[in-house]
Amino acid sequence: MTTAKAIWWQNLTAPDLLAHARKDDIAVLPIGAIEQHGPHCPCGSDDFNAIGLAEHLSARTGVMLLPCPMYGSHPFHHWGMPGNIPLRFETHIALIEDIIKGAKVAGFNKFIILSAHGQVSSTIVAVHKLGLANIFTLSLHWYDFLRDQKTILETGMWHADEAETSMALYLYPQFVDMSKADKGGGAPLVDKRFIVGPGMPAGPGMMYHFEGTFARPEVRELKNGIIGDATRATVAKGEAMVTTVVGYMADLIEDIRSRYAPGVNPLETEPPADSPWTK
Ligand SMILES: [Zn+2]
Repeated sequence: MTTAKAIWWQNLTAPDLLAHARKDDIAVLPIGAIEQHGPHCPCGSDDFNAIGLAEHLSARTGVMLLPCPMYGSHPFHHWGMPGNIPLRFETHIALIEDIIKGAKVAGFNKFIILSAHGQVSSTIVAVHKLGLANIFTLSLHWYDFLRDQKTILETGMWHADEAETSMALYLYPQFVDMSKADKGGGAPLVDKRFIVGPGMPAGPGMMYHFEGTFARPEVRELKNGIIGDATRATVAKGEAMVTTVVGYMADLIEDIRSRYAPGVNPLETEPPADSPWTK
């Protein structure tokens, strides 16, 4: 872990935060959820994954990290699963809005939500509500930055599986019991060829996996709380995933820094004469 070099908001004084924002006004908000992760990984896995990725990112780029709220929102099919504590969508949207609006008061103008849990149903709404409030916010799931996952993983990325368990083994092995790792999963309500799974490259005739009621409630569907194959998890895969995600995120931060000086709100800049979309 890189805790010592990560810059966390909650560890600093208000004058320190103001001084940081004058030099670099980007802040990253890691978010996860409280959710069961099978018999082998802890219920805080998504928070720990978000926090671990954020710490590696901050150690590499010097970016400010906002404190991670432990609770998140959940797709409908997670509700009622023992171990899960879902926030209502409205609660989670308001939580994100309030955190980012609060951080803006200290001089931060660019925000990146780093999610390690399937909660685009609230994060995307929060982004657009913040846009209406003139606040620049990007929201990504680490799956989005692992579209080259086949170079690292043998299976897709779902839940408490090869991907998440590998990251857990790399970031917080003390909470993982591989003797209980297993395979599991259910079946989608339409053929899987129509569904873009997490981090999968999209193809023709496919919908993103949160664009429909594709799943039965997990409490009826899942036998062991796993979707995928946790037995294939390794520390090396976890390290490769973290390095890949942090690499792309560092590029994104560099792009934002190169375009907009500290103190500049990207939403208030003038458009260039030539549109890059027509090239
Ligand atoms: Zn998870």
